[in-house]
Amino acid sequence: MRVAFLGLGIMGHAMAANLAKAGHEVSVWNRTPGKQVEGAQSAATPAEAARGAEVVWMCVADTAAVEQVLFGSDGVEQSLTEGMVIADSSTISPSATLRFAERVRAKGAHYVDAPMTGSKIGARDGTLIFIVGGEEAAIEKLKPLFAAMGKKIFRMGETGKGQATKLVMNLQIALIYEGFAEALTLATKLGVDLEALLPLINASMVNSGVVEYKAPFVLKRDFSPNFPLRLMHKDIHLALDAAKEARVKLPALETVEEIYEMASEDGHQDLDYAATLTLLEKWAGVQVKGKAA
Ligand code: NAP
Repeated sequence: MRVAFLGLGIMGHAMAANLAKAGHEVSVWNRTPGKQVEGAQSAATPAEAARGAEVVWMCVADTAAVEQVLFGSDGVEQSLTEGMVIADSSTISPSATLRFAERVRAKGAHYVDAPMTGSKIGARDGTLIFIVGGEEAAIEKLKPLFAAMGKKIFRMGETGKGQATKLVMNLQIALIYEGFAEALTLATKLGVDLEALLPLINASMVNSGVVEYKAPFVLKRDFSPNFPLRLMHKDIHLALDAAKEARVKLPALETVEEIYEMASEDGHQDLDYAATLTLLEKWAGVQVKGKAA
């Protein structure tokens, strides 16, 4: 399939590479030039990348970035043709998604919101899980592309429902991780051996995918970004905004948001969100580490 891939960050670069590896004809674009993807053509603008493509796939930072890529000068809109499918794997506002979809549909193209979960390792290994909103027929057309980048698709309903669901997923990841980080901090302060604690967590109902993914990094004190703190902070804000619109109160997430705010003030925004642990450590006067650190 002829695919334009826009946004070559931590996730997008690996996703575009997997599309090219699967034999698709891929043209790529990134805001900051100079990023290449093996087996793909580089384009100078989103409009140039999208010209003649059957599918345009986006993976950029936030709502403003998606708007810019679609509708800015040299944006995708200039190359939109009837029947083209626009897929968005960025995590952005569900209500903005509806606006973007309407504008794209006015030109006869389709819009699928397809945020994902699986982080850097899932993107690299082609094992992402896509959380999708949109018309069945457009999603069907994307199936070979989903298969090249991921292992599962969950269709959550019409356009916007993918993004709404993604916020609900990240709300849980943020809270689960914060629970893990608080547990590690208290355990360290109380003198509990972390090398003994981890197998216990894994053998019990406390176990979770979040802990499995994060524990090896945290115990090595490797806070290099798999999912940058600034992006999880953005998702927490998106969830709190959506909750406010829907008149839902999320007290635990509000508290965790303050921790992200303070971690950003400490200069940790470009580290992994696991670095929120360092604030808890500072307050407790301990440092969490495993044997490998
Ligand atoms: P990243 O490494 O920070 O990459 C962000 C990408 O967005 C870069 O290509 C950046 O271009 C581009 N960008 C930022 N602002 C832009 C703008 N105004 N116009 C055009 N392009 C712009 O982030 P990532 O981890 O790949 O995440 C990308 C999206 O996937 C985010 O919405 C994130 O929430 C979501 N996501 C991430 C993960 C994860 O674990 N990392 C998992 C699931 C979902 P430059 O190179 O020019 O800065």
